[in-house]
Amino acid sequence: MIPTKFEYAKPSSLDEAFALLAEHGPDAKLLAGGHSLIPMMKLRLAEPEMLIDLAGIPGLTGITVRDGRVSIGAMTKHATLAASEELRQHAPVLFEAANALGDPQVRNRGTIGGALANGDPGCDYAAVMLALDATFTVAGKGGTREEAASSFMVGMFETTLSPEEVLVGVSFAAAPASAYVKYAHPASGYPLVGAAVVLSMNGDAISEARVGVTGVGDHAFRAGSVEKALAGVRPSDRTALEGACAGSAAGVDVRSEPAAGAGYRSAMCDVYVSRAVLAATRG
Ligand SMILES: Cc1cc2nc3c(=O)[nH]c(=O)nc-3n(C[C@H](O)[C@H](O)[C@H](O)COP(=O)(O)OP(=O)(O)OC[C@H]3O[C@@H](n4cnc5c(N)ncnc54)[C@H](O)[C@@H]3O)c2cc1C
Repeated sequence: MIPTKFEYAKPSSLDEAFALLAEHGPDAKLLAGGHSLIPMMKLRLAEPEMLIDLAGIPGLTGITVRDGRVSIGAMTKHATLAASEELRQHAPVLFEAANALGDPQVRNRGTIGGALANGDPGCDYAAVMLALDATFTVAGKGGTREEAASSFMVGMFETTLSPEEVLVGVSFAAAPASAYVKYAHPASGYPLVGAAVVLSMNGDAISEARVGVTGVGDHAFRAGSVEKALAGVRPSDRTALEGACAGSAAGVDVRSEPAAGAGYRSAMCDVYVSRAVLAATRG
């Protein structure tokens, strides 16, 4: 399929990008890695008249670890995250998600900012950002605002980003006891269930857990009841662990499709959450 005709601009600053967004209004779309947007354009599900490429704007890429906090520019590619020794050490949950995402071609073009801004219900990073309790930095013509991952994702392909805003980066506290495990769709590779877990331990018992889940509902969610139930659990006690992880998708309108009906997906959600907890304790 061939997209409809469009213009292309490559601004060299955020201000230039904001001016282009203001000039073209709803006819403009930001372009990052193009690995969600271009397929949508080819299918004519998106028909922007102006593409504003973020690749020429300095300062939007890279991973920084300072004072126990990790910051990542929105235009940082999946492949960079997947190869980062710093992430492997300070946030294995994100390192593992980047390695589990797509294929080498997707990882070499797609960006973390594009993936999060797109709001796909199967975005691997969405669960990870929730478990990391990440903060998103969003820039607009009027200045910069910060938003918690928990309020950023609001529905299927829906975030709180306005069309005039640019997601410039994400940041979070280092989380060495963390893990991401994914039950991938056999054809697309997107998660049927993706579970991200960040733990604090008191000896061999969990003192605090944050659990993010993607692929299951219309957007990623925190499994709050599981988080509460995990407090005090020794992961080596399989019965207690599985008991705490039961009902992880309770209250969620679980998606159903030929590869995974709602009942099966809910059951797999419990299994993958408990596997992620175990993986995080081994870190
Ligand atoms: C074959 C294939 C397999 C894939 N498998 C997976 C998978 O297993 N798991 C997974 O999570 N993803 C998967 N993806 C999606 C992949 O992660 C994409 O890279 C990602 O969804 C979009 O990132 P991008 O940089 O390509 O953004 P684009 O496609 O360029 O943009 C996506 C959307 O976000 C907007 N946007 C982009 N950047 C910004 C920004 N900084 N600020 C504001 N808005 C912005 C664009 O306007 C557009 O609407 C797959 C994609 C393909 C093609």
